[in-house]
Amino acid sequence: MNNIQNLTIEKIKDGLQSGELSLRELVSNYLEEIKRKDPDLNAYREVFEDAFKHAEEIDEKIKRGDSPRALEGVPFAIKDNIMIRGKAAGASSKILEGYTASYDSTAIARLRNEGAIFLGRTNCDEFAMGSSTENSAYGPTRNPRDRERVPGGSSGGSAVAVAAEMAHAALGSDTGGSIRQPAAFCGVVGLKPTYGAVSRSGLIAMASSLDQIGPITKNIEDTKTIFDVIKGKSEKDLTSSEAKNNSHQVKKIGVPKEFFSLKDGGKEGLNESIAKNILKAVELLKEKGFEIKEVSLPTSGYALAAYYIIMPAEVSSNLSRFDGMRYGLREDGKNLLDVYSKTRANGFGPEARRRIILGTYVLSAGYYDAYYARAQKVRYLIRKDFENVFKEVDILLTPTTPTPAFKIGEKTSDPLSMYLEDIFTVPVNLAGVPAISVPFGAAPKEGKDLPIGVQLIAPWFDEERLFSIGRILEIENACK
Ligand code: GLN
Repeated sequence: MNNIQNLTIEKIKDGLQSGELSLRELVSNYLEEIKRKDPDLNAYREVFEDAFKHAEEIDEKIKRGDSPRALEGVPFAIKDNIMIRGKAAGASSKILEGYTASYDSTAIARLRNEGAIFLGRTNCDEFAMGSSTENSAYGPTRNPRDRERVPGGSSGGSAVAVAAEMAHAALGSDTGGSIRQPAAFCGVVGLKPTYGAVSRSGLIAMASSLDQIGPITKNIEDTKTIFDVIKGKSEKDLTSSEAKNNSHQVKKIGVPKEFFSLKDGGKEGLNESIAKNILKAVELLKEKGFEIKEVSLPTSGYALAAYYIIMPAEVSSNLSRFDGMRYGLREDGKNLLDVYSKTRANGFGPEARRRIILGTYVLSAGYYDAYYARAQKVRYLIRKDFENVFKEVDILLTPTTPTPAFKIGEKTSDPLSMYLEDIFTVPVNLAGVPAISVPFGAAPKEGKDLPIGVQLIAPWFDEERLFSIGRILEIENACK
């Protein structure tokens, strides 16, 4: 088969069934690409030795006449914070060194049941905290479009694995943009499902009320196929629920005006090429007969501030379990307290420590009302904004990021400018609605064309709307 790395999941299945495609060939192709490119890109933390054996087993099964399951033989890269039974899971943190996952996360169990092959686990910002994959304890991942630039984060390794043909598809996690932003920076598709649509069981928690697992792929069709496999209620996660399939047709598309004025938008504001491309996407959809409406999400300007209070509060509580007693790293000390402090001081990197301290502060008795309680009220208002806007329009269209991929090291000494990267993605997590980033156009920078992402946002559990509009943009982008 020609160009086996550009097949869709459906085509892989057809090829397997007709005997035109062998999984041995497909998987060894990916393993070769990893060997060739990854020493430089650093997308993988570990490549699994048993991947090829799985490919052989599945090849034999198909030869015996078994018909392929939904994801039969699809080679996946998995973010290092999603647990795969029997494999190390480290959230790219030193504090989890030596830890092996004792069970499959629900998403992994569901992929496994449908025949997926796991190629390895991917590099990410430590405990998924970051927007560039520079916060990994194991070195930064590089953007394949320009090696001097970041791939975005925190699921940077997963996005790079897909973009650089080192995996067919990947799973990432998104707490404030960590699937959509790296997808946008690397020119691939990334879906953050509705909060609760995919079980979080077995996802190493960052901020539990915001975290979601989702797919990163080359096209919308594959994203939908994977989402359909991993979604749905799981008994192991009480916040998970059965996705109702609304599949209401999209007629009206809303463009939130606040996302273009960028009140808190940092020194650069919205990058000019991004603004132009978003307008092009809007024009295109208008030509196709959709009604375009300017709408308002009045509270969205406070989303970033609320997020950077609520998220660290949950981080400080979730990360308290890493004490040197239960998992991974343990440093010796004079007494118990000394063991705790040495383990945590040496195990966590600077960004994790910053957020633990910030979170502990906003939850402390004296400041809880002033910060945490107020941020929760703002979160409620943000959710209300989305409820109101979805009475007017069926879907929203925005940029995924204010800038294209930035240089490695450019923002590391300025956490606030790094946090501003999340300005368009964070309101979505606070409200719990689903959103997708679809590649659309490019921003020329220093002689290179950097990918741009369009973000589509739908009402709760209406992922189908994202896929239907996403497909139109995808086709147009491919024709350019
Ligand atoms: N960049 C955001 C942060 O650092 C989002 C991270 C994420 O979605 N996991 O918090």
